[in-house]
Amino acid sequence: MTVRRIRKYPAEILRKKAEEITDFGKKTQDLFRDLEETLEKSCGLGLAAPQIGMSRRAFVAVDREEKKIYRIVNPVIADMDSENDIDMEGCLSFPEIYFAISRPKKILISGYTSTGKKIKIQAEGILARCFLHEMEHLDGILIIDYASKQEKEFYQEKLNRLIGTSANK
Ligand SMILES: [Zn+2]
Repeated sequence: MTVRRIRKYPAEILRKKAEEITDFGKKTQDLFRDLEETLEKSCGLGLAAPQIGMSRRAFVAVDREEKKIYRIVNPVIADMDSENDIDMEGCLSFPEIYFAISRPKKILISGYTSTGKKIKIQAEGILARCFLHEMEHLDGILIIDYASKQEKEFYQEKLNRLIGTSANK
């Protein structure tokens, strides 16, 4: 297991649609170990495979209150609340940048565990927000896609610095 380099905006891999996982063998187990180690090191709430350079439909998320870690493969939204909440949201691929994003309060997702068992998980509040954020990473959607013109202007300097860092291409 290894702590991987987190890909930062505007790395191309962050915009790619990630591939479904069909093999639950060693490669997938290694991917999850790397995701967990990298997330632990970075103190984030969630991390999706494309963020560590693997274009696969997998993510990890932590529920700090319940002290539980979720390892999810090929997730889809099965149901969601019609009521939304707006909250500030950050991303390990956008260090020190936060945008206000409206998301459903409650969701039900289905998918697979890291070992290929079919699962359904209900989440609300921060955990629901985290799941939706990580799932969007698998389709190349990023927090900046929700940002208003004013928010982008506010973070212009930080965004320019990210764009100017050749390691992020
Ligand atoms: Zn993110």
